[in-house]
Amino acid sequence: MEIQKLKGQVALVTGADSGIGKGVALAIAKAGAKVLVNYVHNQEAANEVVAEIADTGGEAFAYKADVSKEDEVQAMFAAVVEKYGALDILVNNAGLQKDAKFVDMTLDEWNTVININLTGQFLCSREAAKMFIKRGPVDGVSRAAGKIICMSSVHEIIPWAGHVNYAASKGGINMFMKSIAQELAPHKIRVVGIAPGAIQTPINKAAWDTPEALDKLLTLIPYNRIGQADDIGKLAVFLASDDADYITGTTIFSDGGMSLYPGFADNG
Ligand code: NAD
Repeated sequence: MEIQKLKGQVALVTGADSGIGKGVALAIAKAGAKVLVNYVHNQEAANEVVAEIADTGGEAFAYKADVSKEDEVQAMFAAVVEKYGALDILVNNAGLQKDAKFVDMTLDEWNTVININLTGQFLCSREAAKMFIKRGPVDGVSRAAGKIICMSSVHEIIPWAGHVNYAASKGGINMFMKSIAQELAPHKIRVVGIAPGAIQTPINKAAWDTPEALDKLLTLIPYNRIGQADDIGKLAVFLASDDADYITGTTIFSDGGMSLYPGFADNG
């Protein structure tokens, strides 16, 4: 039997009813942690994730909260502690795109993406950090008092015309993650980023749902395959586990080489 590296721990995964968040919730549950499956709109999908976790012997519950609303985030963190008694791992995954040419982008499109992708991670991380600091590390559970994983994107470094709100939010996540990692390390709290490349989820359906679109996408991926939610799930389990106990304040790219500037590959 596989060793359950997160046994006895509790995780909260935002936006866990779909795509990468779902993959992360399933992988973390398989590694032995109990999981709060956060959703904002699709309760049925969240319940399915909970059922899938239960089917494989894990424990989870679904919880509705908008990560950009302070009162809803605070209520969600109270709920996970009420249900499971503690929190060990936060995965800040919820995010969206509202694409527009820069000159046509409305203030609402800008604010919505920044509020959910960046401020949402601020609100959730602050609640988690307060809990982790109050409790401290627990012997036999984890060497760290708590772990915070921030879902970023290759667009924290790759500029993205037509998506300035999204790229700015992910660039912001990089400095957000590093700054709180510096501040929280003395409290034995680790903070890390994950920068996925192209992962096959509803957020980027247009980029993979026809053979032509997929071919075009693959020209950007030297490793020549689109990523799957499970690729990120396995990475999240590693980063949350004590195997990664000396890793904090950095972003791990899981992108099949998308950030290697593949346009330069035959230009030597
Ligand atoms: P997705 O659309 O399948 O999932 C996004 C999730 O976030 C959904 O569950 C959605 O309901 C949730 N969400 C949106 N607004 C929310 C809010 N206000 N409160 C709570 N939840 C909210 O997309 P995905 O591809 O799984 O994206 C997950 C994360 O991964 C995002 O942060 C995204 O930026 C990042 N990412 C995705 C890719 C990719 O190729 N798919 C690449 C890089 C980064």
